[in-house]
Amino acid sequence: MIMALNRKLKMGMVGGGPGAFIGEVHRKAAVMDGQIELTAGAFDINPRKSKQMGRQLFLNPKRVYRNYHEMIERELKLAKDERIDFVSVTTPNNWHFPIARDFLKAGFNVMCEKPMTFTVKEARQLRKIVKNSRKVFALMHNYTGYPMVKLARDIVGNGEIGRIRKVIVQYPQGWLSSALEKTGQQQAAWRTDPKQSGASGCIGDIGTHAENLAEYITALKMTHICADLTTFVKGRKLEDDGNCLIRYNNGAKGVLHSSQVSIGEENGLAIWIYGDRKGLEWHQENPNYLYVKEPDGPVQTWCRGNDYVAEKSPAAGRATRLPSGHPEAFFEAMANVYHNFADTIRARMTRKKPDKLALDFPTVDDGLRGMLFIDTFLTSAKSKQKWTKMKK
Ligand code: NAD
Repeated sequence: MIMALNRKLKMGMVGGGPGAFIGEVHRKAAVMDGQIELTAGAFDINPRKSKQMGRQLFLNPKRVYRNYHEMIERELKLAKDERIDFVSVTTPNNWHFPIARDFLKAGFNVMCEKPMTFTVKEARQLRKIVKNSRKVFALMHNYTGYPMVKLARDIVGNGEIGRIRKVIVQYPQGWLSSALEKTGQQQAAWRTDPKQSGASGCIGDIGTHAENLAEYITALKMTHICADLTTFVKGRKLEDDGNCLIRYNNGAKGVLHSSQVSIGEENGLAIWIYGDRKGLEWHQENPNYLYVKEPDGPVQTWCRGNDYVAEKSPAAGRATRLPSGHPEAFFEAMANVYHNFADTIRARMTRKKPDKLALDFPTVDDGLRGMLFIDTFLTSAKSKQKWTKMKK
């Protein structure tokens, strides 16, 4: 029977308790297009704070749970049309895998924060679970949601810049340039703790965004990495700076650097791509503009919101809400990932084929690439021979 679905999708959330960072961004971004409503949650590792968050959000107290196990158990007892349609996992990294796995196995669609898992082994396991589940799984690499990133991807894809020779991508921050974790600052505390963050600090936290952005725009795959890692802040257990050279599968060369001790830098994610005909440049902190460079001529500035952008890239057009000159940024980019994710879930639930443009969101395969990237980076940094092949 083909179900009609004349209602908003019901969202559940794990993580995003009082004082949390990204859970709040998810809650705002997910509802931006009026297709999703927050219905349930296990918001905090502390059950009392989870309840507090539920009250702050005016949720039905019966749908606010003490932990995610209780959430799965009780949601499954509700009628199919009442229970959540998907869950968003916005906890620190150590929880992503068990939570995503258990919700998928219970029959829920999942939106998961990055890095997808703690280990490559878990990432492979999760990929199998997703493929067998026939549920929709998305990974929140929100930078792929920017319209000008989609435009860049489509300009590369239609061959305009020619054969790619070089990719430079960076993600510098400065907020961990002193031992902020020792002050009890929540986000710094878990990010510098291997038990919650994983084997990597800076590279897992933000280097993976740079890796994902480069592979998303270019459609190239990294094959080898030559890396150098440093922990500059005394007593810190994980690296706070990482730099590497990259070889791509088409012979292109790359440089990726990411740092949390680059004083004065905020979220300086940026990318430069050089083909044999043209170059491209994009900056996350000025995301409404894409620069296109030609050998003999001035730099072109492509501005989000114009018809010429949507004509060149329907994906960028679809990801645009405001006319040019009214800036769109972080919330909107995340909302674009949710938009495509939600449309794909809706199509699945009503047994329709999703719009091709709706399938444009990061998947479990991207999550595995991210974990392989971290693993190769760490192996290379520790090794003597340096150049290390990235597994598939
Ligand atoms: P945070 O410390 O601000 O928030 C984490 C929240 O998760 C807290 O409320 C905590 O109590 C809760 N939590 C922990 N374990 C839980 C559990 N088992 N059940 C329920 N709640 C639990 O952390 P953050 O900065 O928001 O980061 C969270 C995740 O989001 C991380 O994986 C991080 O890598 C990712 N992140 C992604 C982006 C992005 O741009 N995509 C940005 C920031 C963080």
